This record gives sequence, C-alpha cells and structure tokens, in this order.
Amino acid sequence: MPLDIRCPSCSESENLGGSRVEEAIRMQCHTCGTEWDRSLAKTCAACGSSDLQAVPLAIVEKSRGTQLSIVGTRPVHLCTTCDAEVLRHYHDHRPNPLMPTDLPTIGQEHLNG
Ligand SMILES: [Zn+2]
Ligand SMILES: [Zn+2]
Repeated sequence: MPLDIRCPSCSESENLGGSRVEEAIRMQCHTCGTEWDRSLAKTCAACGSSDLQAVPLAIVEKSRGTQLSIVGTRPVHLCTTCDAEVLRHYHDHRPNPLMPTDLPTIGQEHLNG
C-alpha cells in the first residue's frame, strides 16, 4: 500500500518528519512547520478512506443455557462512509457497545428436544 502522506497546509510530501505518540503519529512538515496527527487506524478496506471511528464492539459468548453474555469489548474501526449505518446505530445506543452481527445462535438446541 503506497503511503500518501502530505502536509495539509502546503502539500509537501517529501520533507516530513513523524514521531509516534499514543494512538497516532505526530507528523511535522519541515517545509512550513505545520504539525498534525496521523491516526494509526487502518484505512477502510472498501473505499480507502482514513476517516474511521473507533467504537467498542461487544465480545459475546454463549453462557450456559441460552443466555448470551457480553464478556468484554474490543475496539473496531468503522468507516464513516461505508459503515455510516452501523455507526449511527452505535451512537443511538451509546454507551452500549456495538453488537457483533454474527451472534451465536440461541435456542436452536431446543428445536431438537
Ligand atoms: Zn507544509
Ligand atoms: Zn469506506
């Protein structure tokens, strides 16, 4: 994947420096002195956008019986364009974590009983 990092101010693409900070890379343009943060989040696989939002996705396990329990969350990065619907759903239900789409099926064992 080619890196296309440009200064947002003067579009310099060569004379740049960068240093890793917590969740991002602090970029600095040595031509004009502009500093900006470049997120370490992956770009969208569908549209290539780097405009992603990190949201907590629930880790769901099927406990005894037919109960589903949320055992934790992990951050996922959603594209604000391609995953707009999912993001809207998440924001509608905050602070609940996003539920995975492939939930363990519930109640099926009763169909055979
Ligand atoms: Zn610059
Ligand atoms: Zn996308």
